[in-house]
Amino acid sequence: MIDENRFEAGALCATGVPAERVLEEVRELRSSDAPTHGGRLFAYVYDPAVPGLDELAAAAHQESAHVNGLDPTAFPSLLAMENALVGAAGRVLGAGPGTTAPDVVGSVTSGGTESLILAVKTARDAHPEIAAPRIVVPSSAHAAFAKAAHYLRVALDVVPVSPETLRPDPAAMAAAIRPETVLVACSAPSYAHGVVDPVTQIAAAAAEAEVRCHVDACFGGWTLPYLRRLGEPVPPFDFAVPGVTSISVDLHKYAYAPKGVSVLLHRDASLRAPQYFAYADWPGYTMINPVIASTRSGGPIAAAYATLRHLGDEGYLRLTAITRDAVAGLADAVRAVDGLRLMAEPESTVVCFTATDGGPDLFVLVDELTARGWHTQPQLSYDGLPTSVHLTVTAAVAPRVAEFGPDLTDAVAAAQAAGPVALPPELTALATSLTPDALTPELVAGLAAGLGMGGETDGAPLPERMAVVNTLLDAAPPALRERLLVEFVGLLQRPTW
Ligand SMILES: *Cc1c(COP(=O)(O)O)cnc(C)c1O
Repeated sequence: MIDENRFEAGALCATGVPAERVLEEVRELRSSDAPTHGGRLFAYVYDPAVPGLDELAAAAHQESAHVNGLDPTAFPSLLAMENALVGAAGRVLGAGPGTTAPDVVGSVTSGGTESLILAVKTARDAHPEIAAPRIVVPSSAHAAFAKAAHYLRVALDVVPVSPETLRPDPAAMAAAIRPETVLVACSAPSYAHGVVDPVTQIAAAAAEAEVRCHVDACFGGWTLPYLRRLGEPVPPFDFAVPGVTSISVDLHKYAYAPKGVSVLLHRDASLRAPQYFAYADWPGYTMINPVIASTRSGGPIAAAYATLRHLGDEGYLRLTAITRDAVAGLADAVRAVDGLRLMAEPESTVVCFTATDGGPDLFVLVDELTARGWHTQPQLSYDGLPTSVHLTVTAAVAPRVAEFGPDLTDAVAAAQAAGPVALPPELTALATSLTPDALTPELVAGLAAGLGMGGETDGAPLPERMAVVNTLLDAAPPALRERLLVEFVGLLQRPTW
């Protein structure tokens, strides 16, 4: 006998639910998400606000959702679309016939993190003779490099960025290169602050040492070239720069494709060769994988292909112009408010600001902005860099810019009136004295409950106001931040029975 109640809460119900109701359930669940459209979410989503684009991408996704990228000979459609995407990315990034990088090749991956893991793996596997390989990255490099180093057992040499320029000193990057270094990396631009690293000098130092140089253009690879064409002073960062051996660019960011598509480019096929994994030593099919996944849905690839084809070069130029103007408007709004200052003059599509002395508590400000419908991203203080607020700006923000200034002024006034978060002294003591190893699951559960997190499974798992949580995290050193968040997220990720 099947007990119907046993199947109530999980995804598998005793008898199937009609299609219409299932869709209602999904919509109902989606209603508590941050808004992916409307230009008020400054992280996670990239929205061009082009009518009909979502429908086109969804239709293309549907056409190819069940096609498997595992074998390009069985599904030549995916091979063709991947080659087209790689060619487009190469074109945008200074490669292809008639350029100084005519032999560029690449792969389509599931995202920026996979592209970076593969860039590190490829560099590592190009040097099997190096027993303990290392990579050099600026401290502003995306966390995915640390993840790659961790997964691949490659040591990470981190060069601090200057608190003034938010860039690494190229001489310090050069000095960090050792005989075991297999890769030097930099960003165009960095995610946190949106500044472009001195790619020319870093790549020259890497070339001099005969080490590969990866430019992480996951964020800006699809906007910097268009900003340059619009007359903005974009420094060299692509394959036109001698010594750059690979570049990553996320199509699910500023190419405005739905999630699940990034491109990793190498200057030539011999540089790419160690990226492949091939295995014939089992009784099944010989496996030849250019990327981490083996079975891969064609859906995201087809959706990205349709998006690029539909928007076209002119479309991207237009969307970048709109975004540039939105960035300028938001930066002006920040400049106009007492108590805030830009971390850097915007040189890409990020607006990042911090508080001046006597300015508002930024974590309280972020909550005040959320209460006014603006979803910004707080960034914790780190290695001499202050707490900051990050805004990823996309074309959809443009029509909202005029509303942002007054709301920001209002939110700052409210945050000033509320004053900074005062943590109970015992929490501060805990955050500053606790070592990650001393954190027991019980201690974390107690902390989480105290902060209003993760307790009730049927209530809201997250507190409405995050300032207290952010203040606690900010007081803790990075290793403790990591442990605390792993435990918190672990508390959220429990099966529904
Ligand atoms: C987003 C981003 C990544 C990681 O990309 P995912 O698609 O989230 O895995 C890497 N580098 C930079 C600069 C990014 O902005």
